[in-house]
Amino acid sequence: MKHRGHKNRIFLLFSLSVFFYSSALQAEWHSADKTLMGTQVSVELWSDDPDVGLDAIDAVLDEVERLDLMMNPWNAASELARINREAGKHPVTTTPEIVEVVERALHYSRLSDGAFDISFASVGQYYEYREGKAPNASQVALSKQDIDFRAIRLNTNTRSIFFKKPGLQIDLGGIAKGYAVDRAVSILRSAGITSAVVAAGGDTRILGDLGERSRTIGIRHPRKKDEFVVMIPLENTAISTSGDYERFFIKDGVRVHHILDPDTGRSSAGAQSVSVLSPLAIDSDALSTTTFVLGLERGLALINSLSGVDAIIIDGEGKLHYSDELLLKSR
Ligand code: ADP
Ligand code: MG
Repeated sequence: MKHRGHKNRIFLLFSLSVFFYSSALQAEWHSADKTLMGTQVSVELWSDDPDVGLDAIDAVLDEVERLDLMMNPWNAASELARINREAGKHPVTTTPEIVEVVERALHYSRLSDGAFDISFASVGQYYEYREGKAPNASQVALSKQDIDFRAIRLNTNTRSIFFKKPGLQIDLGGIAKGYAVDRAVSILRSAGITSAVVAAGGDTRILGDLGERSRTIGIRHPRKKDEFVVMIPLENTAISTSGDYERFFIKDGVRVHHILDPDTGRSSAGAQSVSVLSPLAIDSDALSTTTFVLGLERGLALINSLSGVDAIIIDGEGKLHYSDELLLKSR
């Protein structure tokens, strides 16, 4: 008995040391990126097992590609393009993913009294930022009548969508990337990953804490230029930024960019940049666009009314503002 116990102990020690040795050798960061959803999608994760890590990255990129094919309004073969063609004529039964995203989008439309409105596309479809083209005044006046989230009838039980205005068009560009990032994180979690960063353009979500690769955001000193009052570590959060400098051109001295004010059908001058932090990327994405359109005062009021949501706003004059909870955290 004594002899066997001794042998067992040696075996245990040996196998433990092998385990630690191999994990120290192989546990590492894996990363990949791909152009999807009109931007750069990147995945960075920590995994003990390289096969698990690399498979998880493939699964994430496949999923984002699937969502891109489904939700890209410019691709005539997409489900979203089909909705835009048919939902003004009759109810269209669609995918659970589109139902989920549209439902959340309508939630933010109601919350912002229409500052966030996926039917901005009724006018938005006539802008071509790369070519520097904007619709003329009469075109805007005419198609602006079709910007109306209340005319979007979504039935979540039957998964059907219907537009009460035949000319209404939708575009999920202000929310779909956040949704895709959340899907990516769910996939990673199911694969057992506990530390990762997924980004789709300006929408990022951090899973776990990132150890040596940790990300922080700095709260600028209000009086001393280039100085930060505090650096807040980002862990287990999503952060999205909407800016007027991403997709724009200058026409007659006016900055024409990709965030439209549904009231005017023109680019919103409410802010220069808005970053929003929240647990889920679908919310930070929608809220950064929403806050941008609402502008400083109404935008801050909305963010401050939501618990667990923070914002950093650079107003139209370039001045920095923080939401209340963020200011508390920096004390
Ligand atoms: P980005 O797409 O550059 O990450 P945003 O998250 O701010 O930036 O989203 C901007 C996108 O949101 C636009 O390209 C457009 O597809 C969509 N969008 C523009 N204006 C609105 C609006 N008022 N409501 C909802 N979506 C909008
Ligand atoms: Mg957004």
